[in-house]
Amino acid sequence: MEDYKYCPICRSSLEKKPLDGRERLVCGNCGKICYRNPLPAAACLVTDDARRLLLIERAIEPRKGEWCLPGGFIEMDETLSEAAVRELWEETGLSGRAGRVIGAHIQKSGMYGAVLVVGIEVIVGKGEPAPGDDAAEARFVSRVDLPKIPFESHTKLIKKYFEISS
Ligand SMILES: [Zn+2]
Repeated sequence: MEDYKYCPICRSSLEKKPLDGRERLVCGNCGKICYRNPLPAAACLVTDDARRLLLIERAIEPRKGEWCLPGGFIEMDETLSEAAVRELWEETGLSGRAGRVIGAHIQKSGMYGAVLVVGIEVIVGKGEPAPGDDAAEARFVSRVDLPKIPFESHTKLIKKYFEISS
């Protein structure tokens, strides 16, 4: 991921300076410190009556064409639960209510630097998933048939979810 070059407040150049024992980007004009932190995202763990897990095929980068849990970034005015339910609806057309928080893992990302992926259970009613935003396909998959998932954070969440739900 590329570093920012200009201050978002006053548009002056940013400089790398040692601060708190780290190198930080600091504005040479107004002193604004540009902290870089993992971006918080929700990943939805959804199963059907047959204990199959809901996955989507990604329609966007990173990892376009590969399969993973539905989910996405948490908006500034949302709770974790709201983000999970909204992303599930946008990507699969399924409505549900948030359940247990399953875990949280930092996922290194070439595009975003690092993402804090929080896994949350979503309980859905009847209905077939249909792919929407950011998803080329959406499908319930048996545990034995799970494809290779490119995000280690998702793999860990799936393992934990099956352990505590069986
Ligand atoms: Zn500035």
